[in-house]
Amino acid sequence: MKALIKKDTIKTLTTHYIDGVFVESHGREVMDIIRPTDRQIIGRVTLADEEDTRRAIAAAKRAFTSFGRSTKEERAKILRRLHEAFAARIDDLTDAMVEEYGAPAVFCRVMMESAANIFLSAEKALHELPLTRSWGKTTVTLEPVGVAGLITPWNANSFFLSAKLASAVAAGCTAVIKPSELSSLQTQVWLACVQAANLPNGLCNVVIGRGDVVGAEIVRNPDVAKISFTGSVAVGKSIMRDGAATMKRVTLELGGKSPNILLEDVDLDKAIPTSLAIALMNSGQACVAGTRLLVPKTRLSAVKEAIRETILNFPVGDPTNPKTAVGPMVTQKQYDRVQTYIRKGIEEGAEVLVGGEGRPRGLEAGYFVKPTVFVNVKNDMTIAREEIFGPVLSVIAYDNEDEAIRIANDTSFGLHAYVNGTDVGRARQVASQLLAGRVAINGLVDDQQAPFGGFKNSGVGREFGTYGIEAFLEPKAILES
Ligand code: NAD
Repeated sequence: MKALIKKDTIKTLTTHYIDGVFVESHGREVMDIIRPTDRQIIGRVTLADEEDTRRAIAAAKRAFTSFGRSTKEERAKILRRLHEAFAARIDDLTDAMVEEYGAPAVFCRVMMESAANIFLSAEKALHELPLTRSWGKTTVTLEPVGVAGLITPWNANSFFLSAKLASAVAAGCTAVIKPSELSSLQTQVWLACVQAANLPNGLCNVVIGRGDVVGAEIVRNPDVAKISFTGSVAVGKSIMRDGAATMKRVTLELGGKSPNILLEDVDLDKAIPTSLAIALMNSGQACVAGTRLLVPKTRLSAVKEAIRETILNFPVGDPTNPKTAVGPMVTQKQYDRVQTYIRKGIEEGAEVLVGGEGRPRGLEAGYFVKPTVFVNVKNDMTIAREEIFGPVLSVIAYDNEDEAIRIANDTSFGLHAYVNGTDVGRARQVASQLLAGRVAINGLVDDQQAPFGGFKNSGVGREFGTYGIEAFLEPKAILES
């Protein structure tokens, strides 16, 4: 398998980015970075401690005294510079994501293009958002909330960093960023883009370290006003709980178990490739993955047949190969997690249509799993209730549309949903009854101005567009007698 970094090249990272410069880590713990395709060590990163984190927060606090008073036009200029800097390094950002994380190159490129474009989307949204409104003798201004702590997971680290930074900058906030420690090499390329954008010192500070050290300090520190977090439900809940001590504003983007409803009149030639793409995107390590495929009983055997044929177009393997659809899992832990769920599915009585336990043949060196589709799944089985975060799809049969809607909403999550049908009016009717932050009709559609976030356990608040910027703002009313 072709490696982007030669086996004997180990990158050593010992710095964090504070107040516009790279500074040596005060923390001493060193972590290996392991390439998921072949389990080779490709990097060593010195992790930050609480002291590094406090320095970063202090820099952001100093920078906020001036940036907090910046005009829309000043923020817009910075967003445009960030866009240009990121757009110039799409190849490098993509290569780093493929190498360190293992997602298919085609997917990584799309994500990195989005990571560049999100700055322009934020600029557009900023222009559309009135920051001052007045009536009678009342004036309301939307003030930046203060220093923002931005915390991201490993499954699309650079994109989440960009999306959160874009909204924070648009709002006039300064940032202390804790990327996933599993994304340290990608973060270096991301930081090179930030440096190229020539931001005011202290506007964007990045500390690489563990969640329970750096993340915990950001959450407890009284000089941080707001946390924007993407990650697991468990950590999201702890942030909400621990952040309450200093009354943190929180935006939490958490997990999902998204339903994908095939309606009775669905065109399977279109819907099955789309549904597999929705389930397997980002090697299944996607919060928005459509992992419960709801199929009318009358179409079940045709759906099974179509899946058996179409899955051949979703090969697992070398993520640098443009034909690869599914790469390895990010870590041994994630590999084990997916295997445990596949075993559990079999034990609870679901039937493996394709895939199953173990590594695909010829891919024993990395954290590869077999893309797996279960049929005969009941919605109360563990594989239909819990987020697996791997390429595992559960097919659930339903009798009628009302039952499909009931099953779709019978989940503790509510991040995304999908509806596929030929009669778009009917698909809209169904979409209107689904409890999810986003519902996509007939495909995998994105819109960086549309709110992104979830109902129920999928989180609190929204990102993207004006909704994302408002999450970093505090309304202030001035009332004259
Ligand atoms: P995670 O919750 O373990 O970690 C996310 C981030 O939080 C990491 O940077 C981690 O170091 C940090 N962290 C861990 N403990 C912390 C603490 N006590 N205080 C502060 N920060 C802490 O999640 P993960 O394993 O990195 O990512 C996978 C999860 O992310 C999945 O559950 C997935 O659904 C979720 N996710 C959600 C979205 C979304 O937008 N809704 C997008 C992608 C991933």
